[in-house]
Amino acid sequence: MSLIKFFSTNGHPEHVDFRQALLMGQAPDKGLYMPEQIPQIPESKILGFPLKSYPEIAYEILKPYLGDLVEEGALRSMLHNAYNYEVPVEKVYDERYILRLDRGPTCSFKDFAARIMGRLIQYFLKQDGRSILILTATSGDTGSAVAHAFYGLDNIRVVVLFPEKEVTARQRRQMTTLGKNIFPLAVAGKFDDCQALVKQAFVDHDLAGLDLSSANSINIGRLLPQAVYYFYAHSRVTKGGEEVVFSVPSGNFGDLMGGLIALKMGLPVRKFVAATNENDEFPRFMKTGIYEPIRPSKNCISNAMNVGHPSNLARLFCLYGGRMDESGHVILQPDLQAMKRDLYAVSIRDDETRQTIRDAYLEHKVLLEPHGAVGWAGLMKYLDEYGGSGTIPCISLETADPAKFPDEIVRLTGVNPPLPAAMAKLDELQESFQKIDGSYASLKDYLRGFL
Ligand SMILES: *Cc1c(COP(=O)(O)O)cnc(C)c1O
Repeated sequence: MSLIKFFSTNGHPEHVDFRQALLMGQAPDKGLYMPEQIPQIPESKILGFPLKSYPEIAYEILKPYLGDLVEEGALRSMLHNAYNYEVPVEKVYDERYILRLDRGPTCSFKDFAARIMGRLIQYFLKQDGRSILILTATSGDTGSAVAHAFYGLDNIRVVVLFPEKEVTARQRRQMTTLGKNIFPLAVAGKFDDCQALVKQAFVDHDLAGLDLSSANSINIGRLLPQAVYYFYAHSRVTKGGEEVVFSVPSGNFGDLMGGLIALKMGLPVRKFVAATNENDEFPRFMKTGIYEPIRPSKNCISNAMNVGHPSNLARLFCLYGGRMDESGHVILQPDLQAMKRDLYAVSIRDDETRQTIRDAYLEHKVLLEPHGAVGWAGLMKYLDEYGGSGTIPCISLETADPAKFPDEIVRLTGVNPPLPAAMAKLDELQESFQKIDGSYASLKDYLRGFL
């Protein structure tokens, strides 16, 4: 099998294998890595997925990208250990489902990518006897998922930047109560500022000695595992080959990119609903063909989606023949018609999100949190516009556990969402973190301390 190589969306001449792309995070020209070819999963294999477990499906999807870089038994065992929790597909009514991606150790869908990425990075670093510093920005849930995935490993240190005022107390506590090799950093700024700081550190030659790697959704190792649950969910609601609709609450667009990669690998999907909160730069682009980042991003209750310029749009544009640089400048317009064939983009206001949480509970006894509610509301709008889409199965992704957002949920439904076991002790643990202002000089100073 010839090994798939990865290229930079900014056009850097050097193409790398999965291992290099994973350890580097970002390409040297600030582009994001994309696979040169997208491997095809034959229909005969997809028809067999209803009988396979989550880790078995994950193996089939990821193996073509890894080739022989990871020994088969090692890969299978990493996948079994990483995916040791439930992935429920709940029927809400008729053929309308919720895919619950919130049963991992930090109760958001980010565990899916972080847990296998952590294991793969550790596997490769051990081969080289190397150690690295992972630098990552979080809008709320990446930080904790990554911190948990790498916690206690001696050849890896993790610095997590989070916007001081934009994460909930429980989200913060999931990062700040670990200690050991995990270093949380509260930034006086927004998620986009954190993300920009991280990107700058990566191209700073003064910090080369740190062997920096990223665990953001810009890392290809975060993206590919997110194709797996689309195959899995499809296999749980169809008998095999039928099309489905997915609705994906989107911020940085890593989750949606996972879905589009699944589509390009051969998964039968009629449409992806890309549902954003009031940070509607992408839905507006789909309408007008003009891309304008929102700076600063708007604060919505679905805080992990408060992204005014999603990094993964560079990949999305690339997938449809266009080109966008890291600052959001469109160098080549993508094929908008083809994008519209695959995607329905919609922005959901906070008042609609709240109403959706209320309605879903009253009408269906389903407890949604703000992100999942954006997805569900987006699906309802799509179905309204397309006349209900008949009996085609529709799956909306629930990306976090409602207990991460208790205040909002109690106010809207009167229900105090039960704390999952993974979060039970969180409110009592001791927190430890540092604060910096939003300047790059401050981050650099801090990082120099690790040299
Ligand atoms: C990160 C996150 C999202 C957005 O996912 P993207 O890949 O950034 O689009 C949605 N919901 C929750 C709960 C998240 O943590």
